[in-house]
Amino acid sequence: MSRIASHLADLQLQIEKTCSKRRIFKHNVQLVAVSKRHPADSIREAYAAGHRDFGENQVQEAVEKISNLSDLEINWHMIGAIQSRKCKDIAHYFDWVQSVDRLKVAKKLNQHRTPDQAPLNVLIQVNLFDESQKAGVNVTECKKLAHDITQLPRLRLRGLMALPPKQSAPQLQFAQFEHIYQLYHELQAEYPQLDTLSMGMSGDFEQAILAGSSMVRLGTAIFGGRE
Ligand SMILES: *Cc1c(COP(=O)(O)O)cnc(C)c1O
Repeated sequence: MSRIASHLADLQLQIEKTCSKRRIFKHNVQLVAVSKRHPADSIREAYAAGHRDFGENQVQEAVEKISNLSDLEINWHMIGAIQSRKCKDIAHYFDWVQSVDRLKVAKKLNQHRTPDQAPLNVLIQVNLFDESQKAGVNVTECKKLAHDITQLPRLRLRGLMALPPKQSAPQLQFAQFEHIYQLYHELQAEYPQLDTLSMGMSGDFEQAILAGSSMVRLGTAIFGGRE
């Protein structure tokens, strides 16, 4: 088994084990392999091990890999900050956009998603802890944006994405994730089609899962460190 394949297998086990510990949301959690700054060959290796969902945060780097790997049936997730002039490429190449944080971007993605493609899966990136250096919307903006996105026919709103600040204690990390889950839960009451809460990275995914995450984004734990 390759190094990447064995990391993936270990992580799947860890994810399942953590899922079985939660009292509610027993369903399994989806794993997105964050391949940013790792070569296309590493993605092939993970693909050969059966993995299908990959995350990238830079459009140009992603487009090169997506073209290189066009023989594979991959679900590509955009997880990085979005410049509106890149929306055409994003709408063309990606299956999911997890980092939508303003209406202008949502409208452009909608405009560039062509009718021969399935509607683009979209998550709203939230920033609930006042971290001005990170992208993402607050609660009020999130509710407004969710409403506006559901009016755009080429987009399919699936849920929320978050990357809360790092905390030293697992209980504090958990509390943050739970706070995000509360907002997701509220939105779901209004939009029952929502089925995705993307939170949890290599360092904190267990706490995220315990708090109700349905999708974790893991890079380092699968591919090793990035330069
Ligand atoms: C890089 C990145 C990840 C993966 O981080 P790791 O700590 O390497 O698992 C997850 N989400 C986003 C938005 C990222 O930019």
